[in-house]
Amino acid sequence: MQRVELSDSTGFTLHCPFCGEQVMNDEAIDECEHTLLTASDAGFEYIDPRLGISEDPDLDEEDTIDEFTDRHSSTPTP
Ligand SMILES: [Zn+2]
Repeated sequence: MQRVELSDSTGFTLHCPFCGEQVMNDEAIDECEHTLLTASDAGFEYIDPRLGISEDPDLDEEDTIDEFTDRHSSTPTP
């Protein structure tokens, strides 16, 4: 899984490297068919059902979003 982290998205656009669809600008975040998940420090914005993760996963106090996605990125469900 390729992870892109932004600390300041002002004036930034992000395009999917597979289909070229714009999936993020400084006003909105969208998904294309290749997006597996989007998250911010506030929580998950989108989780693809192919990952087999609940819509609003409970993170343990010691589990950051990065640690959580690292654990789940190696075992996607077909
Ligand atoms: Zn795409």
